[in-house]
Amino acid sequence: MSIIPVQIPKTLKERRAKSTRLQMLAPNHSTCKCCYIPWKFVSGKSIKYSTNSGHFPLCYQCYYSDEVPFEDVINYYTNRGTWEHENFTESEVDYIIDQLINELKKDPKLKQKYNQFIADKRDELINSLLDVK
Ligand SMILES: [Zn+2]
Repeated sequence: MSIIPVQIPKTLKERRAKSTRLQMLAPNHSTCKCCYIPWKFVSGKSIKYSTNSGHFPLCYQCYYSDEVPFEDVINYYTNRGTWEHENFTESEVDYIIDQLINELKKDPKLKQKYNQFIADKRDELINSLLDVK
């Protein structure tokens, strides 16, 4: 798959704004599920859902973006698109989440996202503990 080099904006808002124009240039291509830029212009970040198969709902820019929290990343990767008929099985969902968490832990480019996720989880835990009286 060859990627046509065009300027891809850094922020999610700008990518989404530019996506409509880029879709007109690539009417037969599907897109990143987050910024809607067609695969003709960006590469997908593939994550396996079984030992032999993977998929790439997000482009690299969205996958690494601090504007897309890890919980959103999980949702994008564990939900199939509307054009696909079957949902992932429970074991496939577990497999995907394991892959995503492994990448989150080991990829230095995801450090900010990892710290945010941990902070959110810590707040959730504290809040749930405070609820129990
Ligand atoms: Zn994207």
